[in-house]
Amino acid sequence: MERQARRIAALWDARLTCGRALLYRGGMTQPPRPFGFPVTHAAQDVVRDTLERVAATRAAGRVPVVLFDLDGTLFDNAPRTWQILYEFSVLRARHELTARLRTLPKHQLPYALADILALVDEHDGELLRQVAAFWEDRFFRDDYIRYDEPVRGALQFVRMLYDAGTTVVYFSGRDSPGMLVGTAQSLRTHGFPVGVPRAVMALKESFDVEDLVFKRRAVEFMDTLGEVVASFDNEPGNCNMFRQAWPRAAIVAVATSHAPNPHPLHPSVAVIRDFVD
Ligand SMILES: [Mg+2]
Repeated sequence: MERQARRIAALWDARLTCGRALLYRGGMTQPPRPFGFPVTHAAQDVVRDTLERVAATRAAGRVPVVLFDLDGTLFDNAPRTWQILYEFSVLRARHELTARLRTLPKHQLPYALADILALVDEHDGELLRQVAAFWEDRFFRDDYIRYDEPVRGALQFVRMLYDAGTTVVYFSGRDSPGMLVGTAQSLRTHGFPVGVPRAVMALKESFDVEDLVFKRRAVEFMDTLGEVVASFDNEPGNCNMFRQAWPRAAIVAVATSHAPNPHPLHPSVAVIRDFVD
């Protein structure tokens, strides 16, 4: 079911991207971020608040736990998608597409493949179907995770929390069978705490479990680790569910991108651009 949902998301229509493509091809700027909710907080305020919550929890003799989603939260996975599109263009000898992709920045790309291809003026439906199949065979695999890059300030923030005694949980909708090894390697390569005490990785047991269902089921486990004082995720649905699960925690959305047609974000969820600004 989720594979189907992802396919639908990948084929999401490009209605809003034509103007963006024109603007972009004019060499003006990076395309706007496809996040449907305004930034509400400065990163430095959220960083300070989270550290204060960690300190207060420790002072009360409890174990502070902070949850971090990976894709679109700690990591920009757009370079992973860019790499796959580039390989497609080279392997299928689509030389024009190769040349146009070379002009496309690899970071903060739109969520849907159709929107990304629209940025390079590619609107062919049949090509999109081929790209989507090629992408789906690679995106959810260990081998390609190495192309991801940390979101600005993510590494420093996680390290700061960890050094302050936080139990850090990488709480991701990536599936363990297909992505655990690449995920651990990526975290280690970039310097995130991983494979050590107080660094927990919680991935899906199966690709076919829906992300929100997986995260909802894991709430009880998170509570066994200590007191969840904050969570960071880019999907509004996950943030809303966390809001219900942990009413006193800081629930933070990172304004990178999200799946199409999100539920309205709960008003008490803070939205930050990244972990710096
Ligand atoms: Mg995510």
